[in-house]
Amino acid sequence: MCGVFGIFGHKEAAKLTYLGLYALQHRGEESAGIAAFDGKRLNYQKGMGLVSEVFSEERIKKLKGYIAVGHNRYSTTGSSIAENIQPILVNHKKTPVVVAHNGNFTNTYELYSQLEKEGAIFHTTMDSEIIIHLLARAQKDNFKDSLLYALNKIEGAYSLAMIIGNNLIAARDPWGFRPLCIGKLNDAYVVTSETCALDLIGGNYLRDVEPGELIIINSKGMESIRFKTAYRKAMCIFEYIYFARPDSNIFNYNVYLVRKQLGRQLAKEYPLICDFVMPIPDSGSYAALGFSEEAKIPYQLGMIRNHYIGRTFIQPSQLVRDFRVKVKLNPIKDVLKDKKVGVIEDSIVRGTTSKIRVKTLREAGVKEVHMRVSCPPLRFPCFYGIDFPTKRELIAASRSIEEIKNFIGLDSLGYLSLEGMLKSMPHPPQDFCTACFTGNYPIKPSKKMSKSILERR
Ligand code: 5GP
Ligand code: MG
Repeated sequence: MCGVFGIFGHKEAAKLTYLGLYALQHRGEESAGIAAFDGKRLNYQKGMGLVSEVFSEERIKKLKGYIAVGHNRYSTTGSSIAENIQPILVNHKKTPVVVAHNGNFTNTYELYSQLEKEGAIFHTTMDSEIIIHLLARAQKDNFKDSLLYALNKIEGAYSLAMIIGNNLIAARDPWGFRPLCIGKLNDAYVVTSETCALDLIGGNYLRDVEPGELIIINSKGMESIRFKTAYRKAMCIFEYIYFARPDSNIFNYNVYLVRKQLGRQLAKEYPLICDFVMPIPDSGSYAALGFSEEAKIPYQLGMIRNHYIGRTFIQPSQLVRDFRVKVKLNPIKDVLKDKKVGVIEDSIVRGTTSKIRVKTLREAGVKEVHMRVSCPPLRFPCFYGIDFPTKRELIAASRSIEEIKNFIGLDSLGYLSLEGMLKSMPHPPQDFCTACFTGNYPIKPSKKMSKSILERR
């Protein structure tokens, strides 16, 4: 995963990018970076950690420029090292080039082999660096043709925000796997993974970058080029289920409303008789609301999340078991004791955190725990940028629902059906990528594809 943000034509471009990244923090917590161009110099600051940890007032001040691009990284390909912090920056033909990428290329193996044969040296282990090499090798007279050359060579999932000289660039792969939209803040143009970043800076949503569309923004305005058409769209359905922020609109529709609808549908498919339903906070909250409304079962919060946990904290020695879990979510015994509880979860990936949560509920004295999940079983790896690439890691890939129920320690378990999930979506089924549930991959995975993804983790 990852979050990208770019802005053109604002004297505080870097500061607004910082705020944009702040809003997009959920898309990647591993590292953050911002590059800004003032017409002469390319300035950049990057580091490992959260946006608030990487950037100080001082560091932002150094980022002079009227164009800026920022990136939040969640490592999918390329391991967690400082070399792999985006955006990637180079100078080519005396022009600064900055790349921020969300997604995964699928023909990485072929492109690496070819480029390395031709003498390319890679500085990072990120597939995103390939774009830079393709741009340099395009041998075209202008950057637009170079870009079209590069975009036509890469396959897979990408939402890109780039700087090339005095231009802000946005591009989305022909399938439209990852979200990307355009907004305006007075005269300035903005590109962002999600609209929550626009809300924070007080900008207005203009429209989505279309699948297969290249956008070039400069002092003359905005230019749109359709560089490629896929035979279908393949928007990532898991963005709606878990990944995007509920206050964002992605793929031109609000995420919160979709999640609530998933919960409603779930209640129709798997009715419950229980004292109340509760979410596993925070991600299960929206589906739980929908479930509660549809089933006319009261909604309670049986666990409270502590919002102040940093990423590092002092852990007591052996005294407190499961401390990490407890510090994040604390059950309310007086709400839970002797109750028959319906727990709503947005998704089960590995099953390990769910198991711990259920144990916590039992220790708090619940009588029965029934879990309902607002998506079907996740059974297939994602090659387009979601962080569950191996089958071994997905509990539903090798176990039956009964086995998962027993593993987690539940009295009953129900998953939303595929049809129910698709029916709850604001777009037609054929416009989504559902590969993680169905194994129907819009771009067929090859052995080379999984190899190149796994090798570079
Ligand atoms: P599990 O039960 O599989 O251990 O954890 C499921 C929980 O992880 C769910 O609450 C879900 O919201 C969350 N989740 C789903 N997908 C992802 C992901 O790609 N990364 C992370 N960090 N959490 C995820
Ligand atoms: Mg969750």
